[in-house]
Amino acid sequence: MELTVEIIKMAQSILNEKGLKAGLVDGIAGKSTINALNRVKEIPKSWTKEKKITALIQLYAKDRGIDPGKIDGLWGIRTLEAFNQLKHQLLFGFTENPWRPEEIIRPANPNNWPLQTINELNQFYGHASASGNRQITSMIFPYPMIIAWDEKVTVKRISCHKKVKDSISSALEKALDHYGIAAIKELRLHYFGGCFNYRPMRGGTMLSTHSWGIALDFDPMNNQLKWGRDKAKLAKPDYQKWWEIWESEGWVSLGRQRNYDWMHVQATKLIS
Ligand SMILES: [Zn+2]
Repeated sequence: MELTVEIIKMAQSILNEKGLKAGLVDGIAGKSTINALNRVKEIPKSWTKEKKITALIQLYAKDRGIDPGKIDGLWGIRTLEAFNQLKHQLLFGFTENPWRPEEIIRPANPNNWPLQTINELNQFYGHASASGNRQITSMIFPYPMIIAWDEKVTVKRISCHKKVKDSISSALEKALDHYGIAAIKELRLHYFGGCFNYRPMRGGTMLSTHSWGIALDFDPMNNQLKWGRDKAKLAKPDYQKWWEIWESEGWVSLGRQRNYDWMHVQATKLIS
């Protein structure tokens, strides 16, 4: 496969960190990058540069306690997953593995959400675009929300992808049934932090799932991007049912699966 600039840049950073002199971190796998790759003794010299770069990332993930599967130089789902976890570690400077999923035994996926890869997302949801690409529709919340960054503004109608509209309604109705409006307010589950928003991931170049209108944020002030379960409000036991409801609809919580971005829930399948 064709490796992205982001992947090549990570490889160059790793090589430089190892003192192997890959030169400029520019995302172009040129001569100095290839020479540096050839100095990594665990990687067969006969492999193509794509395989070498992939293997380097696999080795680096393994060193950091992230399981990339076999060190085979092939960019599969497990390598992608390891790459995403590495990105997170490098971005936020975690030294330990943030992968501490809650006990979700067999995640339900009744709506057949796709995997969170650009190809699968585009195939299932259509190509993301700033205009919404006619996939975006409006939906009405079962209870009124407050805009998290402007508490004076109440919102009942938002834009989301038409394929997730019914599932959002269903999850929020179940939450309202379970908690009642007073507890919803007490738990700040009516603080809305956004849904459809065409943009790259924070700190990354890959598109955020918000770009397809298939992700929602709640109470961002108390669940900031880099906060783990020790700090994030939505990680507290009171929210167990909230998350079970979303998970029963097949949605993924990055908080529950990755222990960051607890505000966020998205309609994609887990990469396992
Ligand atoms: Zn989000």
